Amino acid sequence: MATSKEQKTVVVGAGPVGSLAALYAAKRGDNVELYELRGDLRDPSTTPLNFTKSINLALSERGINSMRKADCPRLLDSVLNETIPMHGRMIHGEKHGNLFQEPQLYDVHGRFVRAVDRAGLNKSLLDELEKMPNVKFFFNHKLTGADFRKNLAWFERQDILRLGNTQNSKQQPADKRGAEIEVKFDFMIGADGAHSAVRYHLMKYARMSYQQEYIDALWCEFHIPPTKENDFMLPPNYLHIWPGEEFMFIAIPSLDKSFTSTLFLPNTRFAQLDANPSSLTDFFKSNFPGVVPDLISEAELYKQYSENPHLPLISIKCTPYHYESSVVILGDAAHAMVPFYGQGMNAGLEDVRVLFGILDEYSVSSQDPDVHRENRAKALQRYTKQRTPDAAAINDLALRNYQEMRSDVRSPLYRLRKWTEEK
Ligand code: FAD
Repeated sequence: MATSKEQKTVVVGAGPVGSLAALYAAKRGDNVELYELRGDLRDPSTTPLNFTKSINLALSERGINSMRKADCPRLLDSVLNETIPMHGRMIHGEKHGNLFQEPQLYDVHGRFVRAVDRAGLNKSLLDELEKMPNVKFFFNHKLTGADFRKNLAWFERQDILRLGNTQNSKQQPADKRGAEIEVKFDFMIGADGAHSAVRYHLMKYARMSYQQEYIDALWCEFHIPPTKENDFMLPPNYLHIWPGEEFMFIAIPSLDKSFTSTLFLPNTRFAQLDANPSSLTDFFKSNFPGVVPDLISEAELYKQYSENPHLPLISIKCTPYHYESSVVILGDAAHAMVPFYGQGMNAGLEDVRVLFGILDEYSVSSQDPDVHRENRAKALQRYTKQRTPDAAAINDLALRNYQEMRSDVRSPLYRLRKWTEEK
């Protein structure tokens, strides 16, 4: 066992990374409390992250191995059963008025990544946690403050505030008294995403270097339905890419035989389309051949473009990730990255495996809480030292891969053809 039975570990954020961290901590015998801003995502009335249905992600060995090491054999089965192998990328284009698709395999040895529904993966993790007697869930709890010397945190109960707002809607804002709770902890794991409140409070204690960048692109989700015969519209075992030099459209397969697609476009191009919505179809036809109306009807394209949010992409680097023995941040809270390398969640899941591996190395069998604190502080220091360069590297690779995906995937052959045509 890595820690004493009495240790109370508070995890903030029940996304994929926080849920896996809670599972690792619970497996080691900690009393785990998992606090989440939103409701339980297994409840259909909960608004999903980013306000869209859910996003499909590429799950790679980095993430799979971290779930494998969680010591829950059924977890990996339940997650992998709900995935679709993607053996490579399929590049779409047009030559002399004819559509073409060019497969590019990821690996000569046949290794592949898997398309997974983020919400589905998250649900499997929550289902596993539910079975653990030493885990308590606190949904609708927002971290609002933390004192990492006294090991105290404050959470605002969103359900009480919402109730208050409904009852007092015509009078005044909800009465906040009674909506805040104080929580004592031994160890806090902050996995509360790119706009992490844990990180914000950690900065007051640790001398944290912090860097953030919004790249000049927004993303908007689209949906490619199955055929009338309920089959995939495109070959399912690929990540489909329509490269557009400065922008791109991609499609990832879903279990219901649809594809979740994403348009990545510079802010100014979104603004131009917003100003002239009737140009949307032409824009798609000239840049992403074969999408409209073959895969998405004109009406649906316009509807989804107008209704689905156009969301920014942030890249964050910071260090250290911890303060003494009290707190550590993981996942997007520590290193949010742009999605073009398909590794944000995978790297976050890997954080969990690396962190607990190091905590295990520093664990001792003692009933003295001070001994555990000292060892945890040493382990967290090592974690920050080891993980910072790795996270920075994958962050940079993700930024660089935007150029690769939106442009360089056009094979030399394709480029040669295009060049010859232009001559
Ligand atoms: P999140 O998923 O952001 O979860 C954080 C949780 O904390 C949320 O549930 C939130 O409600 C909660 N929270 C926030 N604030 C508070 C608070 N104050 N108190 C309590 N709780 C709080 N990654 C991949 O590996 N492969 C991909 O193919 C991929 N594709 C992507 C495509 C797109 C378009 C985008 C946007 C991202 C993609 N990613 C991908 C990245 C991936 O989605 C993230 O890296 C991953 O979701 C991070 O998980 P997390 O648990 O760290 O944070």
